Amino acid sequence: MSAAQLPEGTPTQLLIGGEWRDASSGSTITVVNPATGAALASVADASVADGAAALDAAVAAQESWAAKPPRERGEILRRAWELTIARRDELARIITLEMGKPLAESLGEVAYGAEFLRWFSEEAVRIDGRYTLSPDGRSRLLVLHRPVGPSLFITPWNFPLAMATRKIAPALAAGCTSVLKPASQTPLTALAFAAILLEAGVPAGVVNVIPTSQAGAVTGPLITDDRLRKLSFTGSTPTGKRLIRDSADQVLRVSMELGGNAPFIVFEDADVDAAVEGALVAKLRNGGEACVAANRMLVHERVAEEFSRKLIARMAGYVQGDGLDAEVTIGPLIDEATRAKVSGLVDEAVSEGATIALGGAAPADTAGYFYPPTVLTGVPQHARILSEEIFGPVAPIVTFADESEAIRLANASEYGLVAFAYTRDLNRALRLAERLETGMFGLNTGLVSNPAAPFGGVKQSGLGREGGAEGICEFLETVYVGIADPLAS
Ligand code: NAP
Repeated sequence: MSAAQLPEGTPTQLLIGGEWRDASSGSTITVVNPATGAALASVADASVADGAAALDAAVAAQESWAAKPPRERGEILRRAWELTIARRDELARIITLEMGKPLAESLGEVAYGAEFLRWFSEEAVRIDGRYTLSPDGRSRLLVLHRPVGPSLFITPWNFPLAMATRKIAPALAAGCTSVLKPASQTPLTALAFAAILLEAGVPAGVVNVIPTSQAGAVTGPLITDDRLRKLSFTGSTPTGKRLIRDSADQVLRVSMELGGNAPFIVFEDADVDAAVEGALVAKLRNGGEACVAANRMLVHERVAEEFSRKLIARMAGYVQGDGLDAEVTIGPLIDEATRAKVSGLVDEAVSEGATIALGGAAPADTAGYFYPPTVLTGVPQHARILSEEIFGPVAPIVTFADESEAIRLANASEYGLVAFAYTRDLNRALRLAERLETGMFGLNTGLVSNPAAPFGGVKQSGLGREGGAEGICEFLETVYVGIADPLAS
């Protein structure tokens, strides 16, 4: 295996009904390594007919999968977890090659992504219901849960494994079959993971994978097909809104994990060194290409100089390059369009008065899509970089004078995925937990993602939760049975 090669046997065909096949049209998608701009592989490019075949397969497999005892579903998931961990090096290599993040981070994604399989293997046997007396004592209320049914998953490129396992694992646990359409830039990880599922014993048709270059044309007919019962999407807010509209016709159940604009708030009583370390994780993990990335550094004016100085020193120490190189700590952005967007937001902020304290210009001499760790100070509050998702390694710093201003600034966004805050004041921390408009809150930590916790946002960051006990509910229908008082007869 040469330096930039995929592991031998990495699948490149569609998985439909348990069979690997080429696209019916014969077309392929070229997957590019963002660190070099070079072609990495050709992957089958699903047509509209292939999409229909994938849904047919999921529908055909639904009844028998739902009828499988929960313990057996859980054991298959457990085997998938074991195999994913056993193949961690191969999977991490594929992630780095097609997405760009450093190998150590790809290994972290494999561990995180695999954990959804283990978590939901345990949840599969805990799907419960209840039998209660009605308040007037004259009847009984039976509540039970059953699988929603065939589901469509559409995932982004930034966590090509974890965004797939976060949906597939709870669906399998609940007894749902699925069609996965991975991002066209990173289909290889999803296909390699699908091979693991087959090996773990997932029956033919229960999970189908259809990379395509025509996302809307291929998934559109599935979303309006009344055999589909659930759409779970992770991606940008504009695409999510469009999919919600498309789902309205058949009142399709949707889960939406959309964009974010996380505030990272550092109060005057914070441990500034700890806040800097947390900021590095919240900002630079995944090169800033994460929905939970800190988008705005809101720092109390009394500690702003110290925090900025220390953050700049630490961010300057990152080594950017090809994620396969062991010394590299930050990789490229996913493509030229993303780099142009990041660079445009920085240039615009500077033209409105911000100062570049670190980075601020893409290197001219590399083939990959690199943009350096960048810190902006003195960013005016109306700058677009504070209201749009940056999706790159840029930390704009804004100062505030008191807690109420910090909360006002933090909540001044149509997004509400996650907020981070550093403070040693317990009452303030609890006030923040009650007042920040967010689905998740990181208190004295820069990382909240955890398969055992409900991940998701409020406002335009989405609908529904993934992970935790809540994650499986997204794939369950609630059925209530009203029963006449059995003691009265
Ligand atoms: P995107 O452009 O919305 O794409 C996401 C997925 O949707 C891809 O598979 C894409 O396919 C597909 N897609 C695009 N247009 C579609 C259409 N008309 N119909 C059906 N599918 C369509 O987002 P992205 O740039 O890849 O991902 C980054 C975004 O994801 C960011 O906004 C980030 O915050 C968000 N994200 C959110 C979470 C969360 O949990 N809240 C987690 C990770 C990422 P193609 O690849 O073929 O375009």
